[in-house]
Amino acid sequence: MARRTRTRRRAGSLKSQLRRLRHPGALLFALLLGIVCAVAVSELYKPTAHARHFTKSAGGARTEPAIVLEGEDPGIEVLLSALDGNAQVSFACAGGWIARDAGGREIGRTTGNAPSIVALSQIGRLSLRGGDTGSPFFVVEPMSNEPLQIGKYTYRGTAVFRAADRGVRVINRVSLEQYLVSVVGSEMYASSTAPAALEAQAIAARTYARYAIEELGRNPIPDSQEAQAYFGVSRETAATRAAVLATRSQILMFQGAILPAFYHSTCGGQTIDGSALIGAKAPPPLRGGPCGYCEHGKLYRWSVHVNQRTLSSICASFNIGKTCARVEPRGSAEDPWNSILLTGSAGQTVVSSKQLRQHVTKLTPNVNFPSPFVTDVEPDRDGVIIKGRGFGHGVGLCQIGAAEMGRRGFGAGQILQKYYPGAAVVAGRDGREVAIR
Ligand SMILES: [Zn+2]
Repeated sequence: MARRTRTRRRAGSLKSQLRRLRHPGALLFALLLGIVCAVAVSELYKPTAHARHFTKSAGGARTEPAIVLEGEDPGIEVLLSALDGNAQVSFACAGGWIARDAGGREIGRTTGNAPSIVALSQIGRLSLRGGDTGSPFFVVEPMSNEPLQIGKYTYRGTAVFRAADRGVRVINRVSLEQYLVSVVGSEMYASSTAPAALEAQAIAARTYARYAIEELGRNPIPDSQEAQAYFGVSRETAATRAAVLATRSQILMFQGAILPAFYHSTCGGQTIDGSALIGAKAPPPLRGGPCGYCEHGKLYRWSVHVNQRTLSSICASFNIGKTCARVEPRGSAEDPWNSILLTGSAGQTVVSSKQLRQHVTKLTPNVNFPSPFVTDVEPDRDGVIIKGRGFGHGVGLCQIGAAEMGRRGFGAGQILQKYYPGAAVVAGRDGREVAIR
């Protein structure tokens, strides 16, 4: 609720504050502040201006101009997680690039396509192509419409390089709408998913991004499942682009606040209350409910074998003995945070299935334990077989279910009402509610 109040206050605040500034000095100050902010914002979103002219390259969506909503696109900064903290990072751009420091001063450029290396030169400073830049930060902008190759993937927009504690941090700055063209294709199988489901995914992803930035203050947002998957240009298709264009600027709101539009792969039959994930009482659209559309999903039901050695390590870590005698579920099948009773050689303890999952995943990273929704545990010759349902946290939209609804002919609006009941779809700066099928 506190978040909702904050959003409302922010929405109407600037106008009313300016109205209160009757003193001439205060007005001058406000004017100067406005100019400074405008410069800062234009600096921040320069990459979108660049991305707007992207036209080139081989086939599909890459031949289309990048999507930028003039004056409306807030832009986004995405942390390239796989590269974070690497000792050095390689990048290239077919059309050449220019590097600028925080003051906008050019510190390097090349017109060739040869990879360039960024590394720490000394604590808090970066080197570029072997030369110390004297700076902890610089931005690389493509000179043409070609995207930047950074590590394994290519990205629209620009790259921000920062000196991190032990290595290099890379952030991709891109327009929000263009980011979504990739997110929709990174989160769903675009080629086999109906347009309505891709549109629902685009609205959910746009909402989640804005919630993360505006409500949680997450900047940059990670490119991993921790937030939203984002693999750059490689996951853009004509279908994901169409889904973003068809829903441009549309987000989900509930009672004037941006909805924390969580989504996940497979709920396993029942989406759950999002309070634990949100860290506050979930608004009504995120209280969970029956799904009925993901039964065919590969991870609707699953089982995983955990061997005795792993179980004993887990019991030892909870100080209940060096060997583990029994593992028994203690919650109901519909309780998402099932309790598990562990009996070790020297005692017992109750852990959540989420904790059990974390321990198993840490000790045996090759074992796939898709969700914390444990429905049963069966003893096995060596350890136990844990049975469960679904893949992901289970809150909000079930992607496998949404794809099935799309296949059966439901519209994006109907899919969103199924998984976020009572939420409104709004669009544009004025936040007008739109009716979509
Ligand atoms: Zn489902």
